[in-house]
Amino acid sequence: MGVDLMEKIFSLCKRRGFVFLSSEIYGGLANSWDYGPYGVELKNNIKRAWWKSIVYERDDIFGIDASIIMHPDVWKASGHTDNFFDLKSDCKSCKKRFKIEELNDKSKCPECGGPLTEARPFNLMFKTQWGALEDESGIVYLRPETAQGIFVNFLNILNTKHPRLPFGLAQIGKAFRNEITPGNFIFRTREFEQMEVEYFVRPAEAEKYFNYWVENRFNWYINLGIKKENLRKRPHSKEELAHYAVSCTDIEYKFPFGWAELEGIANRSDFDLKRHAQFSRKELTFFDDTTKERFYPYIIEPSGGVDRSFLAFLIDAYFEEKVKDDIRVVLKLHKSLAPVKIAVFPLLKNRSNLVELAKNIASDLKKSFFTLYDDTAAIGKLYRRQDEIGTPYCITVDVKSLEDKKVTVRHRDTMMQERIGFDSLKEYLRTKFED
Ligand code: ATP
Repeated sequence: MGVDLMEKIFSLCKRRGFVFLSSEIYGGLANSWDYGPYGVELKNNIKRAWWKSIVYERDDIFGIDASIIMHPDVWKASGHTDNFFDLKSDCKSCKKRFKIEELNDKSKCPECGGPLTEARPFNLMFKTQWGALEDESGIVYLRPETAQGIFVNFLNILNTKHPRLPFGLAQIGKAFRNEITPGNFIFRTREFEQMEVEYFVRPAEAEKYFNYWVENRFNWYINLGIKKENLRKRPHSKEELAHYAVSCTDIEYKFPFGWAELEGIANRSDFDLKRHAQFSRKELTFFDDTTKERFYPYIIEPSGGVDRSFLAFLIDAYFEEKVKDDIRVVLKLHKSLAPVKIAVFPLLKNRSNLVELAKNIASDLKKSFFTLYDDTAAIGKLYRRQDEIGTPYCITVDVKSLEDKKVTVRHRDTMMQERIGFDSLKEYLRTKFED
C-alpha cells in the first residue's frame, strides 16, 4: 500500500507538472529533480506560509538571505570539515556504495552479496573552486546547511537592529550534501532547500524556548492541514545527538515508506557563537543592557526541509474518491498551499459570448488570485483536472449567466455548487481564502 501510494504521487507529479526528473532529455541525473509549473507554486506557497508565520507575524525574528558559498574557515569553525562524515563501504563486485549505518550485515553487499571494502569516512560537503587558482587556497564548499550563513551575520544584526533577547534570524535557501544514499523521490536529494530559524536566548531560558519551538513547529504543519495521526515528535537519545546539540527533537511524518524526519529542532547551546568567535577572533557575545551582563546566547534551531514538507503535504492531501462509477483523484491541499486558487470555464466552448464572459471573469480574478482559464475539454473533465492539482474553487459560466449575471462556484472538497452574482464574486472568494 505504501509503495503503491508513492508510485501514485510520483506519477501524479510527473503527469500534471509538479516535479520532473532533472535533465530528463539526457536520461536524467539520478535523484535530482526539477519543479514544474504547479510544483513551483506549491513550493513557493510552502515557503510563503513559513515566512509569514516566522517573520511577518512576529516582532522578534528578522529575515536574511546569505550566500551559498562562504569563507572556507566557516566550515572549520562549524565542525563540518572534521565531523560532517558518513561511513561508507563499496561493493567490490557491483561497485555500489552503501552507508554503513543502513547495512544490517556490514560485510556483504545487500544487492549482489559481494564482498564490501573496509568502512571509510566520506565527507558530505560539495567541494568546488573559487576563482581561477587551481590550488588548495581556492577550495570552497557549497553550504551543507543554511544555518552558518545566519551565525556569521549575528554581529551585523546586533549592529543594525539592536535587538533584545530573545530574537531570531530566519532564512530559506538551498543546501547541498553529497548523500551516499539519496532516494525516496524528493525526500533525500543532494541539492535541497531548507527553512531555518536560529533563535538566540538567555542560556537559562534555552530549554523553555526549545519546548516552545517544538510545539510551534508541530502546530504549523497541523494548521496547514497535515493530519495529526501522521505527525509525531521524536526526541533524540543522548548517543544520537549531533556534536553541537544539547537536545534535539525531530518532527516526523508517516511517509508511505515509514516514519521519517521532516524537521529537527535543536538546542545548539553556545557552541556556534563561541566557535565563530574563536576562529574569526571577533567579539560575538551579547551585552544585556538591563542586567549589564555580557555572555554568549544559546541558540534554538528549528530546521526544516522545503522539499520534504512538499512531499508530506502532497501525500497527506491525496485522496481517491468514488463518484458514481468513476474514481476522482483529489488533492485536498490547504487553500493557502494550493498551486492554483481558481479555475474558470465556459460551459460551452463553441458559444463565443460565454467564452468571452468567462475570459473576462478570469482576467479580473487574476489580479487578486492565481487563476486559470480553461476550455479545452468537457466540463466533467475540466473539474477532474483541477481536483488533481488541488484547485479549491472552479467557476463555470453558463447560458443562464448571461441573464441572471451569476456563475456557478464549485467547491473542491465537497463538490457542492452554488450560484454567486458577478458583483459579489470577488468579495465572496476573498472571504473564502481568508478563512
Ligand atoms: P537525515 O537524518 O534525514 O539525513 P538530518 O538530521 O541530517 O536529516 P538536518 O541536518 O537536521 O537533517 O537538516 C534539517 C532538515 O533539512 C531536515 O529535517 C530535512 O527536512 C532537510 N534535509 C536534510 N538533508 C536533506 C536531504 N538530503 N534532502 C532533502 N532534505 C534534507
